[in-house]
Amino acid sequence: MTVPVGPARPAPTEVPVLAITAVTAGYGRTTVLRDVNVTVPSGRVVALLGSNGAGKTTLLRVAAGLLRPASGTVSIHGVDVTRRPPYQRARQGLSIVPEGRGIFRGMTVRDNLMIGRGRAGRGDRLAPTIDLFPELSPHLAQVAGTLSGGQQQMLSLARCYLADPSLMLLDELSMGLAPIVIDKIYSRIAELARTGTAVLLVEQYIHRALQMAELVYVLERGRVAVSGTAEEMRDHDMMSRYLGASAEMSDLAPTGPAPAGPAGDGGPEGETNP
Ligand code: ATP
Repeated sequence: MTVPVGPARPAPTEVPVLAITAVTAGYGRTTVLRDVNVTVPSGRVVALLGSNGAGKTTLLRVAAGLLRPASGTVSIHGVDVTRRPPYQRARQGLSIVPEGRGIFRGMTVRDNLMIGRGRAGRGDRLAPTIDLFPELSPHLAQVAGTLSGGQQQMLSLARCYLADPSLMLLDELSMGLAPIVIDKIYSRIAELARTGTAVLLVEQYIHRALQMAELVYVLERGRVAVSGTAEEMRDHDMMSRYLGASAEMSDLAPTGPAPAGPAGDGGPEGETNP
């Protein structure tokens, strides 16, 4: 049963950028999501939290059109896109950074960005995007797979932004990165959010997500267990009840040990999923 702790819904007159309604979805005979409702209001940051295997990535896949739900609907800007493929959802303003970053490791940074331009005529966003991600500028000719983990994540965010999205789906961007690098990534997400882009953020570090997001949904075994404003959730004992060990881990995140890597940010990563 969903436990609403606050007004995690837009005003009735506002058309949300993303509305996931009564979605049930899974893989083959395995049902992962059950009757899930999630709304992302225009220009807002929404966090999707939950323990491992709760179904967060599956929900993003349903939103992006990478997995068709068994039942329920997905709407973008009020248009039912449930049966539309990912590229059509991208045209409607959806852009995703998947778990594993979604960059082409064998290509240069510049080529990754060129491919990320998306719709024809969007080439003029390349220069502003590089301005927004100045740390990429010295590496444009470098092969993406040789970047540090933090730089790769910046590249994946830059590619996402290049598509001029009205909604970004971000799947665990902080995975494997040191706290100082996560800080940089988060401040960049905040800048993107200030431009009016809505964000649906899957994050393992709960306290960081609560600092960034206005609205929060907690998934538990494929159902929305609790939802509300970030402020309400910060005080809510259900956060620790539902998130358990993850919540404890998040408390350690800002001061926890940095993962191994040449720049202390995780270093070049393994396989990606462009
Ligand atoms: P994590 O934080 O560990 O990534 P999550 O909340 O994102 O967890 P999902 O990745 O959505 O969870 O996975 C939910 C469930 O679906 C898990 O039990 C997982 O094993 C299963 N699952 C995920 N992808 C597939 C797949 N391609 N085929 C079959 N089962 C899958």
